Amino acid sequence: MDKVSIVKCADYADAYAAVKKSLDLIGGIEKYVKPGSRVVLKPNYVSRRKPEAAVTTHPAVLRAVIELAESAGGKATIAESPGGPYNAAYLKSVYSACGALEAAEGTDAVINYDTAFEEVPCPGGATVKKLPIIKPVLDADVIISLPKLKTHSMTSYSGAVKNLYGTVPGTYKAELHFRLDERKAFCSMLVDLCETVKPTLAVMDGVWGMEGDGPTNGERRDAGVIMAAANLHALDYIACKMIGYDLGDVDTISEAAARGLFDPSFVEVTGDDPASFGLGDFVKPQTDFNLLKVVSLPPRLNKLVVKMLASRPAIDAGKCVGCGECARCCPPKAISMESGKPDIDRKKCIKCFCCQELCPKGAVKIKRPPLNRFMLKFLK
Ligand code: SF4
Ligand code: SF4
Repeated sequence: MDKVSIVKCADYADAYAAVKKSLDLIGGIEKYVKPGSRVVLKPNYVSRRKPEAAVTTHPAVLRAVIELAESAGGKATIAESPGGPYNAAYLKSVYSACGALEAAEGTDAVINYDTAFEEVPCPGGATVKKLPIIKPVLDADVIISLPKLKTHSMTSYSGAVKNLYGTVPGTYKAELHFRLDERKAFCSMLVDLCETVKPTLAVMDGVWGMEGDGPTNGERRDAGVIMAAANLHALDYIACKMIGYDLGDVDTISEAAARGLFDPSFVEVTGDDPASFGLGDFVKPQTDFNLLKVVSLPPRLNKLVVKMLASRPAIDAGKCVGCGECARCCPPKAISMESGKPDIDRKKCIKCFCCQELCPKGAVKIKRPPLNRFMLKFLK
């Protein structure tokens, strides 16, 4: 039986007590962190955002986990490979904006600036046979994923397993997006990654979550929850149920269940009642999963229809400042800067939504073709 703990936490001022309770409910921090353990804390720092934006793991949650890991005798390292380049200068700017420096202040936690990585085999990998992983993660005895409760334009939901994508160094992430441009294959790779990294547990920051066009351009949702589990798939399954997804809506979860990495009927929820949070109406991203649910066609025809109806990125010229970040991060190089503004080559675009994820000004919107909007309206 996989245990998932759920604890109410309406205010980050109460984060320590809530995180501690969430861990106590699954056996206590000492069950996972032993004296002398090298503990890597992997926050969700998808991009350089302030904690108030509700995009990244809040420093209060990170601080609570550092203190608890240290109380058990662990040596904590905060490590992230954010979206964008993987170099010390960029890492520093991300850690600083996201509040990692203040979270570590006065503790013995180390912030990782070492950009070394190694390519390692993925034993039993269904989609990839090897992956590059950042060094601190490979050297750790204990890995704690610290995701944010958010929706995600490409994968529907961004949780404990998706958060591990930040253990793959910088530009390799773009390469994987390019190679695995279909959502199912990409999510299968995320499951391979989870099996390779073998995280010890996850503590989810859902005090401020994000709904709509996550992981960076949605709306803050005060979900008021902290969750923890040793089985990341089980945690994601329960979190998704809470925010109104079915098992089949999120490919990382259905893939993990199909591979027997968790059994939905053998998950025990402990702590507060999931229904008491009232999160079932969480707004979903404007991408295509809803549509796929109502369209049932033979596979070939389905592929064609999906292509015709797929949502796509579009630039909001009023918000765009011409920084070029979207062009730099675009895996197939579908964006070129023309007269200081991005121009998207539709034929090259693989709809990974990295541009939307990493635009610092929220200037990349998701656009639905008219037929898509029509179908959603009338076929729901
Ligand atoms: S990242 Fe955003 S602001 Fe920068 S050029 Fe692209 S759309 Fe414009
Ligand atoms: S334009 Fe945006 S959505 Fe399309 S491939 Fe590039 S980054 Fe991905």
